[in-house]
Amino acid sequence: MSLVDQLDTVTDASAGTVDRHATTGTFESTSPASGALVGIFPVHDAEAVRETVERARGASERWAALGFDGRGKRLAAYRGYLARRLNELADLVHRENGKPHADAILEITLAIDHLAWAGAHARKTLGPRRVRAGMLAANHAAYLEYQPFGVIGVIGPWNYPVYTPMGSISYSLAAGNAVVFKPSEHTPAIGAWLAAAWRAAVPDAVDVFQVVTGFGDTGAALCGAGVGKLAFTGSAPTGRKVMAACAETLTPVLLELGGKDAMIVDDDADVVAAADAAVWGAMSNGGQTCIGIERVYATSAVYDRFVAEVTAQVQKLRPGSDDEASYGPMTMASQTGVVRRHVDAATAAGARVIRGDADPGLFPSENYLAPTVLLDVPEDNVAIREETFGPTLSITKVRDAEEALELTNTSATGLGGAVFTRSKARGLDLARRMRSGMTSINSVITFASVPALPFGGVGDSGFGRIHGEDGLKEFTRAKSITRQRVALPVNLMSFGRPATAADALARVMGMVHGRHR
Ligand code: NDP
Repeated sequence: MSLVDQLDTVTDASAGTVDRHATTGTFESTSPASGALVGIFPVHDAEAVRETVERARGASERWAALGFDGRGKRLAAYRGYLARRLNELADLVHRENGKPHADAILEITLAIDHLAWAGAHARKTLGPRRVRAGMLAANHAAYLEYQPFGVIGVIGPWNYPVYTPMGSISYSLAAGNAVVFKPSEHTPAIGAWLAAAWRAAVPDAVDVFQVVTGFGDTGAALCGAGVGKLAFTGSAPTGRKVMAACAETLTPVLLELGGKDAMIVDDDADVVAAADAAVWGAMSNGGQTCIGIERVYATSAVYDRFVAEVTAQVQKLRPGSDDEASYGPMTMASQTGVVRRHVDAATAAGARVIRGDADPGLFPSENYLAPTVLLDVPEDNVAIREETFGPTLSITKVRDAEEALELTNTSATGLGGAVFTRSKARGLDLARRMRSGMTSINSVITFASVPALPFGGVGDSGFGRIHGEDGLKEFTRAKSITRQRVALPVNLMSFGRPATAADALARVMGMVHGRHR
C-alpha cells in the first residue's frame, strides 16, 4: 500500500505516532483545484504537542549518540526512500497544493539534494576541532564543537510544502536534533507523508521526526512545549506572534517571512533572458513563492524591449490543473482576494495592465488567476509595498541601475532578488549592495538550489539561515572547551598571583599592541 493510499483512509494519517495523542477533533484537507477531499487529520492540542515533544526529546538523545556516521547512514536511507517514491509524493503535492506535477518533481528534487548535502557536510561543519588558544592561554588546548539543541519545532508553509520545511528539517536532523513538524493546515497530508516516509525508511528512530497537525493554536503550542529552537516560515504578522510566544520561554527562533523581491535589468542586459526569468520568477507556482520576483526595475534603455518581451511570454501562460498548465490554482482561496485588491489598487492609481491571452471564463474555477503585468505603478502603491503572492509582476522604468537599486532597497523586506547585466563586475557590485539575503545574477532563484549557500532574509523578511554551513550551525549551540596542557609558574587567574604580574602584563600588551595607531 502506498503512503498516499494510507493517507486516503486517514485519520490514521501519518499512520502512526501522532494518533496516540489527545486531539480536539479533526479537520479536512481538500484539493484547491477540485475541492476533493485529500485527507482528514487530527487537531492536536497543547497537551498532545507537549507529549510529542517529550517523546522527541527521548529520541533526540539516542539520535545524537549515533554520531555523524550513524545519522548519515539513516539520512541517506531517508533520501533514498524519497527518491524512489518521488512520483508518489509529487502526485500528493499536486493534489493538495495544486501545483503542476512537474513543478512538484522539481521542488522535491531540490529538497533531496539539500538532504544529501546536509548529511554529507555535518561532521566537517559541526564536529569537534582544535582552535588556536592565543597568547593569553598559550598553555591550554582549545576545542570547539557544535552541539544539537535537542528538539527543533518546525512550522511550515503550504507554498513549497516539501522544499521549505525540509530546509529546516534536513539540517536539524543532520545536526543531531529530533524534529516536531507542524505543516500548514492547507498541506497536512504532505507533512504526514514526509513523517510516514521517515518511519518507513528509518524504523529504528521513528520518534526522531514526528508531525503534529492542526491550526495556528497547534503551531503556537510548539513554542511552549519545550523545544530547543523554533523554525517558522510564513507571514510577518504571524512571525511576530510566534516570536512573542517564544519570548516567554526564551526559546530562540528562526523566521523566514517572505518578501517583495525585485529584479534590476541594466542597460547591457540580455533582455530576452531577463524577461524569461522575470516571468518564470513571478508566475511559476502561481506567484506563491517567497523568493518570487514581484517587482522589476528596468532602465530606460531596455524598458520598451523588456516590456514587449514579457508581454509576448506572458501571453503564452495558462493556469490549470492539467499537465500542460503553466501553474495551478491559488492554494489558499482567500489569497485570490489579496491579489485582486493589489491589482485593483494599481489600476486605480493609473497603472497599465497586461494580461495573458488565456480566457478567464475557461479557467476551471475562481481559484485560478490570470497572469497579470502592471506597468509603472506608483511606488507608494500597495502593489509595490506589500507581498502579493500571486501571478503578478510590476515593471517600472528607471533612469539607470543606481535608481533601480535605490527603489529596490526601499522595501521593508529583503529576502532575495536578481540582477541582469553582462558585466560581471557591475553584477557583483549591484548584488552586494542589494538589501537582501540572497541575489542571483543573470537568473532568478538559483541561490535556493545551491545547498552550500545559506537561505534567509533581512529586515521584515526575518532572520536566521537554513541551508549551507550556516544552516547546519543554526540548529546547534557552539560549545567551547579549554584544557590546561601545562601549568605556568605564574597563574594570572589566581588570587595567588604576584603583585608585579599585572604590571608585567601591561608591558607585554604595550609591546604587542601598543605600536598600532
Ligand atoms: P501564516 O503566517 O498565517 O501561517 C504560516 C504557518 O504558521 C502555518 O503553518 C500556520 O498554521 C501557522 N500559524 C498560524 N498562526 C500561528 C500562531 N499563532 N503560532 C504559530 N503558528 C501559527 O501564513 P498563511 O499560510 O495564512 O499565508 C498568509 C500570507 O503569508 C501569504 O499570503 C504570504 O504573503 C505569506 N506567506 C509567506 C510564506 C513564505 O514562504 N515566506 C509562506 C506562506 C505564507 P495554519 O496554516 O494551520 O494556520
